[in-house]
This record gives sequence, structure tokens and C-alpha cells, in this order.
Amino acid sequence: MDGAKPEKIRCDACPVMCYIAEGKAGACDRYANHAGELVRLDPLTIIHSGDQKLVPFLQGGDEWDGDIIKGERPFVTAVGAGTTYPDYKPAPFIVSQEIDGIDMVTVVTEGIFSYCGVKVKIDTDRHLGDERDVIRVDGEPVGHVTTSEYGSKMLSLGGVEHLTGGSKKEGRVTCDALMQLCNREAVTMQIGDGDHVVEVVVQAGKAPIIDGVEEKLMRVGCGSAAIGMFAKQWLGHADEVVVVDDHITGVLSEHEAGKQLDVPPTGIKLLGRRSTPGRYFQVANPGTGWGGTDIEDPLTILGPFKPKVAWEGLRMLMVSTTGEQYGYYELDSDLVPQKKPMPDALMRTAELIAENCEPSVCSVLFMGGAGGSLRAGVTENPVRLTRSVRDALTHVSCGGAEAYVWPGGGITFMVDVLDMPTQSFGYVPTPALVAPIEFTLRVSDYKALGGYADQIKPVASVRQVDARWLAPNPNAGDPMAHQNYRWSKDRTS
Ligand code: SF4
Repeated sequence: MDGAKPEKIRCDACPVMCYIAEGKAGACDRYANHAGELVRLDPLTIIHSGDQKLVPFLQGGDEWDGDIIKGERPFVTAVGAGTTYPDYKPAPFIVSQEIDGIDMVTVVTEGIFSYCGVKVKIDTDRHLGDERDVIRVDGEPVGHVTTSEYGSKMLSLGGVEHLTGGSKKEGRVTCDALMQLCNREAVTMQIGDGDHVVEVVVQAGKAPIIDGVEEKLMRVGCGSAAIGMFAKQWLGHADEVVVVDDHITGVLSEHEAGKQLDVPPTGIKLLGRRSTPGRYFQVANPGTGWGGTDIEDPLTILGPFKPKVAWEGLRMLMVSTTGEQYGYYELDSDLVPQKKPMPDALMRTAELIAENCEPSVCSVLFMGGAGGSLRAGVTENPVRLTRSVRDALTHVSCGGAEAYVWPGGGITFMVDVLDMPTQSFGYVPTPALVAPIEFTLRVSDYKALGGYADQIKPVASVRQVDARWLAPNPNAGDPMAHQNYRWSKDRTS
């Protein structure tokens, strides 16, 4: 033994260029030095794609090889495929196979995304923060609250401003939070500042936990929509119904639905700004109480009933847009609402509202832009790839899951992380996220756009023994299906 230390080897899969000692992993934990050989630590993920057949039970022929689903064709995803750097090198895998008589090729790489983030949709009425409120993880700003959607709050997290535009710690924390969210893990975040901070735990496919309370239901609609939907069910059981909502609070007797069903005026007075008949904005402040407002007692949104119109004994239901909060009141001789036990018939309507609400979940969509490294790994003339995607000649998938490609320039795409294989995402300390991306197209189109035709290998040549094989996700689509491509429509038209 000469006592000489084995040499470190250099990983060239990203700009960090780690020197890795024998038995150790690089800074991103994706590559390691195994006996002097640079290896990608996670297995390559291959999906049983195409038409699926269940293995026949105890019939003659082949012995069972451990798979319960036989795919007609393997789809090599970029999960575990590795990265090439710098940009001019061809992608790690460029594999071909014939699909229904057409030679197809898939260019497979783990992209390093400096420009990337996640859009989070949280199905809840509860107030999580005002638009543009800063979102923090471990005290570092990682994103902001953006425009709400129907029944959902929206967060925009990550992006180059947080990954590289702030302090080193901000970049590291942002990268870590994005990776965890994309890998379907829970991330605790604080929204807002000072005494208006809401803590939310977000996890893809799971209900949000807001200030320690797990959210259950997404509202059936706004207060006005709920009046329109359930007006008939209340007829004969209540003289007035108020559906409390942070956006639009609905009032049955004034609403068009009530008018068409001949519900008489009740002399009710709502605080807040009247929009159109029976529809009120801003009855209270946003919060985590009734219908996404800050109220716990719904009577606080009412002014005095008009004595010339209201009557003693008037029956009033107040209910939230998820049916989770409700109260039944009758006017006393002074026309003041007094709380009474909820009649069964009205209880059933509150239950009906709740039944019509969908479960509250968090959706996490990864959004990134395919930059120079990615596109140059596909072709020596990268803009042709962009045009080919635009022309529907090239299909973009992430871990086999169909990606939505934004119109306009570049290849900016979004994908639901739940459609992708688990543990699809990694990172490099630049910091940037590593995400799988595949470009699939006809071999003839690949040659036409200046692809690395001499690097094309048949899919059978990909080492499959160590691979992670997955059944297809029915929500993810089939990247090689002919209907993805413009030429299939040209042929049928
Ligand atoms: S960070 Fe990872 S990919 Fe980049 S050089 Fe180091 S080991 Fe290789």
C-alpha cells in the first residue's frame, strides 16, 4: 500500500463543479464518488406507458416477473437521468422507439432551473393575507399572496428574485421550501407582518392547516351564489336567509332568486356596501371566522330591522358559505333577533350546503422556464426547439406528466406536482431547483430542428435493471400519444 489518498473526482453536472472524495456525495446529494466513478444516486424512473394490460392470473405462458401491470412501451423520464453541463453537451438520454408505426424520440434531462417557482392554490375562504403580503419561511421572504380565485387563495412562491436576488440565506431557504413543496412535503409559512400574521401549513394534495386548524371545506360559492342555489329549499321554513361571505354576502328577500319565488321584503338592514339587490360587499373585515370574515357573531353585520316592514316572529337563518356555521333567530316584539334552536328543516339546508362543498386542498404547481442549458442539450439551434413546441410538433412533459406551456416566447411551463413521480425534484446550491423535463417528438422532426441525431439510442439500450418502474398516472397523460401532436390532426383532417 503506497498510502496515497485516492483522488477526488470532479462532478461537472452543474456550475458548482464539486470535487467529491471517494465514498462521498456532492453538495446536492445527487451525485457521488463510488470507487472513482461519478454516479447519479437516485435511480432512473421509467413509466410503463401506452396501453396497459393487467397480467393474466395463473394463465400459461410467461412467469410473473413482479410487475402487476404490463405497459406496451417504456417511457424514460428525466427523474434520476442526470444533467449535462455546460450547455452545448447533448442531454443525458436521447432515446427512440416506434409508436404505432412512427419513429419517436424523447430527449431526457434533469433541468437546472434558476427561473422557477411554485403557484399554490389553497381552497379556503379564510383570510390568509392581503394581496401582495409577504410570505416567509424560517423568517426569510419566499413569495407573496397573489390574486384570489373563486373559492381559493393563491400564493406565488420562489422565483429568481428570491432564489438569487436577495441574501444567501433567502436563496437557500427559498430553494429548500420549493423543493419540499414540489416533493409533496409540508412547509410551514407565515403570511403578513406585525400583528397580522397567519401561519399556514401547505402540502400538495392535503388540506391546509391555518393557524393550527385543519381546513375542511371549500365554499360552495359566494353568498349570492348560495342564495341562488338553495333559495327553494328555504321556502316555507324561513322568512329571511343571510349567507355570510367575505366576498359577497347574500340576502334572500332582496336577491333576484327571492323575488322570483315571491319572498316578501323583511325590513332587514345589512351593514356593508350594497352591490346589486341582495348582494353586499365588505360586511366585515376578512378573517378566519364566518365565511372568511372576522366575525364570530353574525348579528354584528345587521343594522336594526325597519319597523314598518319587519314583524314580530320573523324567522331568519344566518349561514356561512360552507354551511359549517349557522344560526336561527326570531324577531321579538322589539324586532330584535333572538337566537332559537335550529329547526330540523333548516338544519338540513345547512347540511346540504356543506354536502355541496368540495374538500379543501392545497394544489402545488411547479412553474419554470427552459433556459439555454436545456434547449441546447436538445439541439444546436435552440430557438428551433421553442418553435417546435409552439407548433405542437414537440410535446413537453415533466417526469412523464403533461406540462402546460405558456403562450409567447420561450418555453415557460407549469405542471401539477401530484401528476409527477414522487421525489422528482432536487436542487443545486447555486441555488436552483432541479426538475425533470422531457421533449418528445418524431425522429424526422428532431432531425429537422438540428437535434443530436447521432446520439439517438434505442430505448431498449437504456439500462433498466436498476431503474424505478412506475405504473402510469392516469392524470398525467401519455407523452407519446399521437393526439398530442399536430401531425396526427393533419392526418385525420
Ligand atoms: S452540486 Fe451536485 S450536480 Fe452540482 S457539481 Fe456538485 S454534485 Fe455535481
